Amino acid sequence: MLIKRVSSPFTVRGLLGAVCAMGLFSCDIQTQEILPSSLGDIEDSVNEIAKKEEVKMEYREASCDAIYDAMVKAYGKPMKGPIPVYVAGVLLEVADATRTIMEVDGGDQNRFRAAILDTDDPVCFGIPDGRILLGRGLLESVVKNEAQLAAILAHECAHIAAEHVWKRLDKAFEETFWLQMGSELLSGGKLSERNIRKARETALKEVGLDSRGRKPLEFAYERREERQALEVAQDVLESLGYNVLDVVAMASTLRAVEAADAERKPVHNLSGQLLSRLEDRKFTPGRSGREPYEESVLARLGEQQR
Ligand SMILES: [Zn+2]
Repeated sequence: MLIKRVSSPFTVRGLLGAVCAMGLFSCDIQTQEILPSSLGDIEDSVNEIAKKEEVKMEYREASCDAIYDAMVKAYGKPMKGPIPVYVAGVLLEVADATRTIMEVDGGDQNRFRAAILDTDDPVCFGIPDGRILLGRGLLESVVKNEAQLAAILAHECAHIAAEHVWKRLDKAFEETFWLQMGSELLSGGKLSERNIRKARETALKEVGLDSRGRKPLEFAYERREERQALEVAQDVLESLGYNVLDVVAMASTLRAVEAADAERKPVHNLSGQLLSRLEDRKFTPGRSGREPYEESVLARLGEQQR
C-alpha cells in the first residue's frame, strides 16, 4: 500500500514542485528532469515524501471522520442489536470475496465494516476508509433477501476498493487545500488544528453534506464507476454461491426508490441500460437466501417498530 500511495501522481507531482521550491534540486517541471546536487539532498527529499504521505493520511482520516459524523447527524445514529450483527456476518464473507476479486489487500480502507443508521431513508454510502453506512429503510424497502444484502454490501465495498470517492477528495485536496498549507506543512509533516478543520470542510463540500446534518448526501457516482461496482457485486455473489440476478433486482429497486424522491439527486447512477447489460451476463445459478433474511432482519425490524 505504501508504494501505491507514494507513487500516486498527486503526491509525486506536488512533491516535485515543493522540493524544487525549496532549492534542493535543480529541476525542470515540464520535462520532469531531476538533477540532485548531493546524496544528502536525496535523503532530504525522501524524508519530505514520507512527511507528505503522513499529512495526506491525516487529511484522509479527517475527511472520513467528517463524513461519518455528518452522515450520523443527517440520517440517524448507528443501530445496535442483532441486525447489525447479522449484517456484519454477511459482510465478513463479502469483504473477503471482494478483496480477492479486486486483488486488493486487507489493509487501510479495505478493512470493510458496516453500520445501520436508524432512518427510513434507503441511503447507502461507502466512506473511503471502509465504513459502509446503510439506512434501516434500505433493509426494509430495497433489500428483499440475503443475496440482495450481499449485493449491496459488495457494491459498496467495490466503490471503496476502487477509490471512487477518494479520487474526488484527493483532487479537491490538491486543488483547494494542498497549495495553501505552505511551509507549516513542509516543516512539520502534521496537519494543524486549522488545517484539520479545513480538511473536514473540504470533504463535506465534496460529498454534499454539511456539518450540522441539515443537508442530505449529495454525491453522484459516475456511470463507469457504477458499472464497475455492480459487476464486482455480481462476481462476488457468484463466488459465494448466491443468485447473481439478485444484484440486478436490488439495483432496480434502489433505482426506483432513489428516483421516487424528486427532491434529491440519486447517489447511485443506475441506468436502465446498465441494468439490462448486467442481466445479460452469464453466471452459475445460486441461492437467494430469502428465509434467513426474513427471519433475521425483516421480522426483527418489525418487532422493533411495534
Ligand atoms: Zn453505486
